[in-house]
Amino acid sequence: MNSSTPKAYDFLIVGAGLFGATFAYWATQFGKKCLVIDQRSHTGGNTFCEDYNGIQVHKYGAHIFHTNHEPIWKFVTGLTPFNRYTNSPLANCDGKLYNLPFNMNTFYQLWGVITPEQAKAKLKEQTAAYSHLEPANLEEQALKLVGTDIYNKLIKGYTEKQWGQSAKDLPAFIIKRLPLRFTYDNNYFSDKFQGIPIGGYNQLTAALLKNIEVKLNVNFFEDQNSLRNIAQHTVYTGAIDDFFDHTFGTLEYRSLDFKHNVLDTDNYQGNAVVNYCDAHVAHTRIIEHKHFEFGTQAHTVITHEYPAAWSKGAERYYPVNNDSNNKIFKQYQQKALATEANVIFGGRLAEYTYYDMHQVIGSAIHKLNLFFEKDIYQLIK
Ligand code: UDP
Repeated sequence: MNSSTPKAYDFLIVGAGLFGATFAYWATQFGKKCLVIDQRSHTGGNTFCEDYNGIQVHKYGAHIFHTNHEPIWKFVTGLTPFNRYTNSPLANCDGKLYNLPFNMNTFYQLWGVITPEQAKAKLKEQTAAYSHLEPANLEEQALKLVGTDIYNKLIKGYTEKQWGQSAKDLPAFIIKRLPLRFTYDNNYFSDKFQGIPIGGYNQLTAALLKNIEVKLNVNFFEDQNSLRNIAQHTVYTGAIDDFFDHTFGTLEYRSLDFKHNVLDTDNYQGNAVVNYCDAHVAHTRIIEHKHFEFGTQAHTVITHEYPAAWSKGAERYYPVNNDSNNKIFKQYQQKALATEANVIFGGRLAEYTYYDMHQVIGSAIHKLNLFFEKDIYQLIK
């Protein structure tokens, strides 16, 4: 078949996660024919939920939707209703509980301080020895920002477990996600909009992929040539190094293991998310899924989350965006630009970026806008 022969589809979309599903949704709205394939046996990528007697279990880790971007919020809530879940994780350290993010409740629990002025004075004392530092790594960044007590109790153990490395060897930017707040506000995110789709994320995926052809359990690489030949364009959301056969090397990730348990109790920990900050406790979090939806079932499902080394074949979770990986990624990006005019690369794995969900949707809309020369945000009412 040459390029002028009519193709069965306008777009072959490789990956049925949020990027692929958002792309397919809008391309279909614009009259294009899409085929979405995924190597897994389900759609939704890592947002996939499994129903356990009415409890939506986040099988690939807790997902909490939050954004400051009103059109993105209108887009997702226009597709399926969201609840008013607000993420307020707790941190368990040495058997004591602390509120996150670091706020007046945490400062009170740590030091007994009551007013913002007292808290600021305490933090000044805690950070005094580090105020001159130009942070070269995560440890220095954290000590400069929050001082010794918070760093040693709530950051060091958690972070070193999470990344499998000393905080002295980690880049400082990871810790920028932990703000200091001088109000008694346990809302983890500062975004204007937050919630979880009622009935779980599969509702959102189903709305995005409504009336779109999807083929599951299809490995793109086993039949790449004929698959690419059935469509005018390919949208690729898998790992970019897989696409180019690891020519420039393998991009590193951090992986996770999940142990799911059904318990014969209606309420195990009283909160959806509890972090475990001690270095000697193997898991970093316990998730109790029913609390994402204010569930009233007689049973509960909890998940222990364990950080894990990543090797080829394991699930990819967190890109390890250090200098050497970022350099490799740039080479793939340049090769994609130079040689793959018919392929749109997007999403966490193809862009090698640790995206939140709203950012994945934003990235897909950005690439759609460029391709179709439209402004999709103007179309969202
Ligand atoms: N972190 C920490 N203590 C905590 C929670 C998070 O030190 O109790 C640090 C840790 O370095 C982690 C980063 O903050 O890698 C981002 O954590 P967050 O939970 O926001 O990200 P997620 O893993 O949910 O994407």
